[in-house]
Amino acid sequence: MRTQFTLSIGTNLGDRAANLRQAVRWLAANPAIQVERLSAIYETEPVGGVVQPAFYNLALVGTTILGASELLVYLHLIERSLHRRRLVHWGPRTIDLDILTFGDRHYDTATLTIPHPEMANRRFVLVPLATVVSGDQQAWVEQLLAKTSDHNWLKKTIESGEVNSWIKNESPTR
Ligand code: ADP
Ligand code: MG
Repeated sequence: MRTQFTLSIGTNLGDRAANLRQAVRWLAANPAIQVERLSAIYETEPVGGVVQPAFYNLALVGTTILGASELLVYLHLIERSLHRRRLVHWGPRTIDLDILTFGDRHYDTATLTIPHPEMANRRFVLVPLATVVSGDQQAWVEQLLAKTSDHNWLKKTIESGEVNSWIKNESPTR
């Protein structure tokens, strides 16, 4: 059974566009994962009080035959491959991949909370996400956006057409 999931991916160290492209390509390269849609890339103001460079963020819709915790294991593999170091909580990172939603399921374990508990407080998550989901999910995200108290700046930096071209002709034949 395939489950639809959404991710938020962010980076604020090194070549930020290249970091996002590599993460997306590694997702697309996993035969158990199908990348369906990518948002534009937004440059976004860091939240959480640590002085650090601005982030690049995008949202992704995919489907997978994996379970949520198996997907998380693969996301951590991508994070390690991009040399992510966990030095400062909410500090700079080469890549951060967070699962926002996984089907309509709720998880609350030591390693996994879904829907992601911080998404309602982060316009850098909600604004890109609203552009790639549809139906009830879009209505829910729009509602979170209308209610959020986050007013940090963000600006679209790379159009979704260009971002989606990263994975064109790369997916294996189904
Ligand atoms: P953050 O994303 O909050 O800045 P990290 O990326 O360092 O922090 O994540 C720390 C831990 O959060 C991960 O090791 C993972 O087990 C846990 N986690 C809980 N829920 C999720 C989720 N929905 N998506 C990704 N990681 C999650
Ligand atoms: Mg994370």
